[in-house]
Amino acid sequence: MRVVVTGGAGFIGSHLCEALHARGDDVICIDNLSSGLVDNVAHLLESPRFHLDVHDIREAIEVSGPVDAVVNLASLASPPAYLDRPVFTLTTGSIGTHRALDLAAAHDARFVQASTSEVYGDPAIHPQTEDYWGNVNPIGPRSVYDEAKRYAEALVAAYTRSGINAGIVRIFNTYGPRMRRDDGRVVTNFIAQALAGEPLSVYGDGSQTRSLCYVSDMVRGFLAMIDSRVKGPVNLGNPQELTVREIAERIRDIAGSTSVIDYHPLPEDDPTRRRPDISVARAELDWSPLVDVAEGLEKTVSWNCMKYAENPSFVDAVSI
Ligand code: NAD
Ligand code: UDP
Repeated sequence: MRVVVTGGAGFIGSHLCEALHARGDDVICIDNLSSGLVDNVAHLLESPRFHLDVHDIREAIEVSGPVDAVVNLASLASPPAYLDRPVFTLTTGSIGTHRALDLAAAHDARFVQASTSEVYGDPAIHPQTEDYWGNVNPIGPRSVYDEAKRYAEALVAAYTRSGINAGIVRIFNTYGPRMRRDDGRVVTNFIAQALAGEPLSVYGDGSQTRSLCYVSDMVRGFLAMIDSRVKGPVNLGNPQELTVREIAERIRDIAGSTSVIDYHPLPEDDPTRRRPDISVARAELDWSPLVDVAEGLEKTVSWNCMKYAENPSFVDAVSI
């Protein structure tokens, strides 16, 4: 296959590019490097089956030659990053998704949209099933991300009704190697702080929950989705639910750190609990996660230690 991956120089995108390339596909990675890094795909650049196009998906996207699939991962994803660039986030999710859909339509290609558990907002049902419409504050600070993704879902659904072969994946919190140290999300913050011996910054009282999915599992789910004609939406995530305080304690233990826990105010509209119901993914994609959170966190801490050994400033304390 010849697959276009927007956001392919980012965390999940670079792992997906690598997996597609490894199974023999040609990969065109389109990324404006707003949060992605060339370093994430540097090992693929020499290959004639990989091409990096530094481009903003809000501008018309042109790809010469055939395209079999378009996977739209381009979007800021970390709360501090999208809160810092609200209009860019909204226009990437709206105009950018429109452009990516047009590319798929022009090539009669399969389209897969990376949506998010954030479409459920602060969910009133638990665990979250795909038929739940969500509880999102449309004018709160997080709405720049949540509503952009909800609009993108509406756009994909409209294209699907007009006959395009498209599907929606709702990603739940995913972590692993290549998340930027300064990304601002929970796992990278705690690892950087634990390795630097700084206090771990728990927001609120740490009783809010998240369910952490290791990146290799997420990539397997995307490959299954690309190869199917499933419309979704399909939740992809690991149902192993932890409180944020438990995440802090586990990372501190794995890192062998003596960092204390520091409590900070809870960000506005921070969802109180989150766990995917993955029955649809099991039934329609024959997918379920394989990597236990203990194993995934070990691998992620090890990767950060390796980067630290190469360059000690890699885990400079994260300032909150
Ligand atoms: P990331 O920030 O590492 O990757 C996003 C990539 O998109 C970056 O490489 C960035 O440069 C690129 N990008 C952003 N705007 C762009 C634009 N206008 N044009 C071209 N490129 C652009 O984040 P990630 O965690 O890898 O997330 C990837 C996708 O998965 C995003 O769509 C995100 O919303 C979704 N998602 C991720 C998670 C998670 O836990 N990691 C959870 C839910 C949804
Ligand atoms: N969080 C935290 N400390 C941090 C970063 C995040 O306690 O340094 C909390 C955040 O308030 C949320 C959870 O961890 O409850 C997950 O946050 P993240 O930004 O990783 O992703 P979200 O699920 O909120 O998009």
